[in-house]
Amino acid sequence: MQAMGVDRQVLIGDRLLGVGLPPLVQTMYDQSLPHSEEALDELVRRIGSLNAMGCDIIRFSYPKSDDRSAFTYLCARSPIPVVADIHFDYKLALEAIECGAHKIRINPGNIGARWKVDEVLASAKDHGTAIRIGLNSGSLPKGNDPPARLMSNTALTYLDWFEQAGFTASVVSLKASDEAVTIEANRLFAAQSGYPLHLGVTEAGSVVSSVVRSTWALGQLLSEGIGSTLRISITGPIETEVQAGVELLRTLGLRKRGIRIVSCPRCGRSSFDSQGFLASVEQDLLSIDRDLTVAIMGCQVNGPGEAKGADIAITGIGNAIFLYQGGELVRKVAPDEARDAFLEAVRNAE
Ligand code: SF4
Repeated sequence: MQAMGVDRQVLIGDRLLGVGLPPLVQTMYDQSLPHSEEALDELVRRIGSLNAMGCDIIRFSYPKSDDRSAFTYLCARSPIPVVADIHFDYKLALEAIECGAHKIRINPGNIGARWKVDEVLASAKDHGTAIRIGLNSGSLPKGNDPPARLMSNTALTYLDWFEQAGFTASVVSLKASDEAVTIEANRLFAAQSGYPLHLGVTEAGSVVSSVVRSTWALGQLLSEGIGSTLRISITGPIETEVQAGVELLRTLGLRKRGIRIVSCPRCGRSSFDSQGFLASVEQDLLSIDRDLTVAIMGCQVNGPGEAKGADIAITGIGNAIFLYQGGELVRKVAPDEARDAFLEAVRNAE
């Protein structure tokens, strides 16, 4: 039986996961791998942008051997660690490890005979590759326990097996589309094991649905010190997944980097297009690696007050746009200069 409560640290490429370490943000690429060098280079640049937004690890499906050279190319060039998601075929797991995957994600229950998983463990150990045991409530072995307990116990059984094979670079995920089951399964597991947990609510829906459901569930777990990595699974752009994950960690005080945005929601008093202004600067703000609060406000009621609490703020009152630094009004700018003036002030903020 694995040692209860012994906190394990697992290296994924250059990122260390473990109980008590800052949680990391993951996403999963949502298309099949391109094969041309030009398209792969474009994908590497996109991963660079995700990294600038705060993404720490990216996962790819690895469904067929045809992807071998493309995946090898990516593993060698990605600025953040790469994970291969494998189902059913242990040979694909072996291949992904040889391609340079920093971690593979498998469900040992769908790989087949035990010796096949043992071969994967041996190769992963040789290559310094971590393994995530990824269990979803929809694909568990049969059992009479309630789903959360069955998920947690199944993971513990697999970890015992992995330890007997001399493999300890394991991460576990216990995901369900039901948030309560997700929370309970992770709590049960964390009470019995010190292996790092990757958190997520699976198949959580579109942006609003997923962000609400995921942050409600993951927020509780992270507040209890449970969870070493997370993914906010969204049926939508992977950039939004990263943005949501980083924002959750910032809100919980578990990450400092990144810009905290305060913005006017608009009302009948608005005389400035704060929504359009935010849309025009948001992508730039998300890529600025600073611990700052910025405010984008739309009237004289709350604008000056919010500006006082922000490092950089802009308040539009009709065509007059006021720029604040450190709570002090520094200048009035013309509408067509506002975006550049605001971003320059954010980049130069002390
Ligand atoms: S900041 Fe002003 S314009 Fe914006 S919602 Fe508040 S009161 Fe309305």
